[in-house]
Amino acid sequence: MRVTVFGIGYVGLVQAAVLAAVGHDVMCVDVDSAKVDGLKKGNIPIYEPGLTPLVQENYDAGRLRFTTDAAEGVQHGELQFIAVGTPPDEDGSADLKYVLAVAKTIATHMQSKKIVINKSTVPVGTADRVKAAIQGVLDERGIQFEFSVASNPEFLKEGAAVNDCMRPDRIVIGTDSDWVKEAMQELYAPFNRNHEKIIFMDIRSAELTKYAANCMLATKISFMNEMSNLAERLGADIEMVRKGIGSDARIGYHFIYPGCGYGGSCFPKDVQALIRTASTVEYPAELLQAVENVNERQKQKLFDFIHRHFAGDLAGKTIALWGLSFKPNTDDMRAASSRVLMEALWAAGARVHAYDPEAMQEAQRIYGLRDDLQLAGTREAVLKGADALVICTEWQQFKAPDWSVIKASLKQPVIFDGRNLFDPVRMKRDGFAYYAIGRGESI
Ligand code: NAD
Repeated sequence: MRVTVFGIGYVGLVQAAVLAAVGHDVMCVDVDSAKVDGLKKGNIPIYEPGLTPLVQENYDAGRLRFTTDAAEGVQHGELQFIAVGTPPDEDGSADLKYVLAVAKTIATHMQSKKIVINKSTVPVGTADRVKAAIQGVLDERGIQFEFSVASNPEFLKEGAAVNDCMRPDRIVIGTDSDWVKEAMQELYAPFNRNHEKIIFMDIRSAELTKYAANCMLATKISFMNEMSNLAERLGADIEMVRKGIGSDARIGYHFIYPGCGYGGSCFPKDVQALIRTASTVEYPAELLQAVENVNERQKQKLFDFIHRHFAGDLAGKTIALWGLSFKPNTDDMRAASSRVLMEALWAAGARVHAYDPEAMQEAQRIYGLRDDLQLAGTREAVLKGADALVICTEWQQFKAPDWSVIKASLKQPVIFDGRNLFDPVRMKRDGFAYYAIGRGESI
């Protein structure tokens, strides 16, 4: 099928590459000409395992094209995906300006029947607004083409996005029209062979499904962080509690890891956006507000530990930091806990020496050159002469470090672990002051 994807970000690029890989003819449109030019030269703008060869292969085969020419993009696809950003507005609601701009662009260049599909995460009712925006432009043009707006939210996880799109758990499609159903069934047939994964529903339910999924996951994390704070105060070990509750099949082991707060481009903004949506229908979303509050507090936790350990005297201290991305296997630092920590350390007069396997370029882009941030090429290099080590992201390569190197490099053997990677008993035995999340002695 001929498919156009507006927005070549984490979602648009991966989805486009995966659709091309099964044989669809995909054109990607973005307003960022540097990104488009780069992609044409084989420069993949994000780090995502498996993405580079997939894009390259399908680009070379001519099934995946990139352009800034919206007219060309609109002409190309019978299916028009909108996969642009929906960042939080000042009041936390999803800002739809990019989505509506694409809707108008599609309407401006439309010359034939189209299916417009919202893949961006958008509040309930957005399909109606996209429909109205398209109709408004067609009315201005004094012309009419048949079109339908569907909702097809994306559930990929950064760091595993290619696999998630190749082997989705489910494909949610909100539509009120039979011809759209047929077309979507054909589009996704290659991903739907072993068992039925497509769940058709009405558009509003599809839009809410995406928020409900992310809010549920964020709730699990904040719940565990709340338990970890209790465990700390009650002398219990949250890691034992985690194992103890995860063994109950109704609870399960997934997504119940305590830590230094959730970040990324989705959970924080989607929880806030659903709170805002709830307020528009005069429903006080108390649980979601608590999820958000617990997370905000949890993101301060590592700084609080560090501040207390050094008795508030952080001026001139150097803190080694492992992990900048909001989670492993991505270079994405949007709303990352590392940013909250670094900014608090800088405000207190400390310097940060940071290492991340993939996100250092992104850190440089966000913070530019500054005296109190040094980025080093290896995990060992940041340790030399630092007053303590902090771990913000659970990259595999941080899980079995060389303890003797850490000890020899740090001024004092102090580790603040935001991801509970190590055994506190062993750490104590080896002479480290070890602060972890919800593990009894660290409060
Ligand atoms: P992103 O910021 O990585 O990419 C968005 C892209 O859209 C950018 O390249 C930008 O230049 C482009 N763009 C903006 N306006 C445009 C226009 N008028 N025409 C063409 N391109 C335009 O965003 P993302 O992380 O891919 O997220 C996209 C949407 O998908 C968001 O709504 C997000 O909530 C949702 N989502 C994201 C993830 C994720 O893990 N990142 C997962 C599921 C859903």
